Amino acid sequence: MKLSQTFIPTLREVPGDALIASHRLMFRSGMLRKLSNGLFAYLPLGLRSFRKVERIIREEMDAIGSLEIKPTVVVPGDLWKESGRWETMGEALLRVKNRLGTDFVVSPTAEEAFTALVRDELSSYRQLPLSLYQINTKYRDEIRPRYGVMRGREFVMKDAYSFHTDEDSLDETYQAMGRAYRRIFKRCGLTVIPVRADSGAMGGSGSEEFMVESEIGDNTLLLCRACDYAANVEKAACKPDWAGGEGISPEAARTAAASTAAIEKIDTPEVKTIEELCGFLKTDAKRFIKTLIYRAVNVELDLSSAPGNHRGEKRPSGELSYGETFFAVLIRGDLEVNEIKLAAVLKASEVTLAADTDVVRLTGAPVGFAGPVGLEGIPIIADLSVTAMNDAVTGALARDLHYTHVAYGRDFVPWLVTDIRTVKAGDRCSLCGGELYEKKGNELGHIFKLGYKYTRSMQVSYLDEAGKTRIPTMGCYGIGLDRTLASVIEEHHDEAGIIWPMTVAPYQAIIIPIKYDGAVKTAADGLAAALENHGIEVLLDDRNERPGVKFNDADLMGIPFRVVLGDKNLNLSPPMVEVKHRAQKENRLIELGRATEELTGLVYGELAELNR
Ligand code: ATP
Ligand code: MG
Repeated sequence: MKLSQTFIPTLREVPGDALIASHRLMFRSGMLRKLSNGLFAYLPLGLRSFRKVERIIREEMDAIGSLEIKPTVVVPGDLWKESGRWETMGEALLRVKNRLGTDFVVSPTAEEAFTALVRDELSSYRQLPLSLYQINTKYRDEIRPRYGVMRGREFVMKDAYSFHTDEDSLDETYQAMGRAYRRIFKRCGLTVIPVRADSGAMGGSGSEEFMVESEIGDNTLLLCRACDYAANVEKAACKPDWAGGEGISPEAARTAAASTAAIEKIDTPEVKTIEELCGFLKTDAKRFIKTLIYRAVNVELDLSSAPGNHRGEKRPSGELSYGETFFAVLIRGDLEVNEIKLAAVLKASEVTLAADTDVVRLTGAPVGFAGPVGLEGIPIIADLSVTAMNDAVTGALARDLHYTHVAYGRDFVPWLVTDIRTVKAGDRCSLCGGELYEKKGNELGHIFKLGYKYTRSMQVSYLDEAGKTRIPTMGCYGIGLDRTLASVIEEHHDEAGIIWPMTVAPYQAIIIPIKYDGAVKTAADGLAAALENHGIEVLLDDRNERPGVKFNDADLMGIPFRVVLGDKNLNLSPPMVEVKHRAQKENRLIELGRATEELTGLVYGELAELNR
């Protein structure tokens, strides 16, 4: 392809809103332009690389037997009403009406569409397992699109959905997807960190995210220095930092508290925060039990044994769900509550700190004086850390009063004890006890055991071997193509531009004639044609520009091999051309007569290495 005949509008200036390298370089190299906030157009150069990422993903999905289909992007709103996400998805969901007033959704993801398609065709266990995927446009009305295509409003996702008769079969597909994802990212030249992730209300251990390390990453990852434990902070667990290991039972704690002085009420005028209390009592935060009142929505954890009057509603899916519910949550004063872990425990769609008015109503005290002792009518949930506390300070449910010498198990017993702390760098690995450290990460892909969430709410069933009606279990698996491509640039660039891995390079070689006429033109055209005959993708810079401009553009575009042809080297005997690899500093002369063979070998060698 001649450069003059394509459309690669390179830029010298950096767009003002481009904060990260991939955003800058995709614009400057002429890969991408912006139509509007969060809406981007791929130009020819960008689309070539995009298609290569797409091809890699498609090959790996096909290789594990997932079947590609092409549903629509606009889907009936009714399907989303059935699953319940019409209400719970919030503002990110773009809802539209057609001329008849019928509701539609512009797909942000496609569990509903795939589940509905399978529901209509599924009758027998013989049809399972079934794994389907699409590579298709998604729209999410992100509040703040940023970093170019890393977080756009419209983007392309490969999303796969699998349906199974049992957990083992689901696990098999889930594991195969995990392996395919590792291959996809490796083939794209990416270094990914697979981490354990929150599996939300569904529970279980079946959720893994594929992260790339990134300063601008939205995710905090915890990694162990001693073993291969890696988890999103949303999910991360750690070893308890008290003697005796796991949570301590109320009975054992009561015994342990035998030598603790009796609980005592103390005046703490105008002292509300933990810091103020630490100063006032001259002690440290580890002695306090923080009591936080949380409001949760759509709780699916069974509350029939919990204090308070909880009236659940039966969902069409069969689950009992509690609309708005409040909880008192206890944690050691130096720790933070992880709201995502809390939501997972409660199987809630939303968990937020309660409004002040609710705190006052539920605790009978001003904000800042909540505590578990004597707290009634609201379920108390304690973090495991609280079970090791037998001489603590807590609020006393009245203005300017606290309790001291509070012992868990003796002075209060929570309704539920569970792990809800936010793990931090320095905490101990739950697997091996090693030290955990933090990294920022950006999510490129996600594999997830969904269980029965959609198949139940959307009433999918089949007949098993015995002729009994059963509900299939389900998994879902997504990769963002745009974000993957941008991440390749993040990992492979320098001051001058992109340094494409061969597998996703828009062209594999660029031929730069110093001056495109006469014998140089003839040699350049001949080399380009010969390389193309060998299956190499070649860009020929036939522009009437200074060599420096052409070199800069070649570096910016990041094409792996640069071949420069000029009178001087062509007049040597034998005629020579200059070859430089984008990732290397040095260039070298090779014989024109051997250039095709040599370059072809190098290109295929790099492809083979990445595709291995
Ligand atoms: P994030 O937390 O970054 O918003 P998510 O958890 O909402 O992502 P998923 O629903 O798991 O993402 O979607 C699967 C993949 O789609 C993500 O791993 C990511 O690669 C891609 N993706 C999601 N949102 C966007 C977006 N706004 N722009 C580009 N890619 C996106
Ligand atoms: Mg995700």
